[in-house]
Amino acid sequence: MSSLLAPDASLERLYTGTAWAEGPVWLPADRALRWSDIPNNRIMQYHADGDRTVVYREEVEFTNGRTLDLDGAVVQCSHGRRAVEREAGGQVTVLVDRWQGKRLNSPNDVVVAADGTIWFTDPPYGIISTREGRIADPEYGGCYVFRFDEQRGELTPVVTDMVHPNGLAFSPDERVLYVSDTSWVRDKSDHRHIRAYDVVDGACVNGRVFAEIDEGWPDGFRVDEAGRVWSSSGDGVRVFAPDGEPLLHVPVPEKIGNLCFGGPDGRDLYIAATSSLYRIRTATRNAPRGDRRPSARQGSR
Ligand code: MG
Repeated sequence: MSSLLAPDASLERLYTGTAWAEGPVWLPADRALRWSDIPNNRIMQYHADGDRTVVYREEVEFTNGRTLDLDGAVVQCSHGRRAVEREAGGQVTVLVDRWQGKRLNSPNDVVVAADGTIWFTDPPYGIISTREGRIADPEYGGCYVFRFDEQRGELTPVVTDMVHPNGLAFSPDERVLYVSDTSWVRDKSDHRHIRAYDVVDGACVNGRVFAEIDEGWPDGFRVDEAGRVWSSSGDGVRVFAPDGEPLLHVPVPEKIGNLCFGGPDGRDLYIAATSSLYRIRTATRNAPRGDRRPSARQGSR
């Protein structure tokens, strides 16, 4: 199909039974893929060994996106708690749920930078319907992308000019932050694109449109080791070069919520798409975070 996929690649459906699949992350120690089934308020886990899926936890306060921190622990977003939290063995520790004394909207997706800071989006999807959370008032009057410095307990808005920021990911050198705006979902005249921002001293500047999605919307996405952006859309995986040029369309029969690289060598692309979890073998992988800025780990937790 493409040099970006393994020569014998084919799309596998691993599981069906979710209402809206989101938030995938590969857990190396468990050789498992964990993801959210947001409307059913539960977390699923696919174990590659044995090819089996289990319900990992239920009544989870509508978790959404998740990632691993520098220690390999799961950091995830909760619509119900309106928080970013750390999870271990079903135990949840809220890391941050307020900015300037006001509650966050409903954190959606999260990444951890090489220096350990936690970056997340905060659109309203978990407080505007009962399907993905609970109806509640927005408190701070915007939908920002935040950077959370856990060591200092500091929460800083880094992107404030988007309507509904949703997925996010860094370029391999962390000099660019990509953020999707999915406001098209609520207002069809609004955005369904991925924006790029230059990251300078922890601030996001020079925001510009990186890629448009014309079928569905770009909910979650990942960046591979060569800096290519692998995005969700309504009709498959869309891959873009670092300059925004479209490179590949991998058709998937369901609307995709999010995706991530995983598997023992990191070259399997796991795709959380509405009712199902899919997998396809690629010829690339996520850029190992520890390789991005090795010196940045000095002094971080
Ligand atoms: Mg999302």
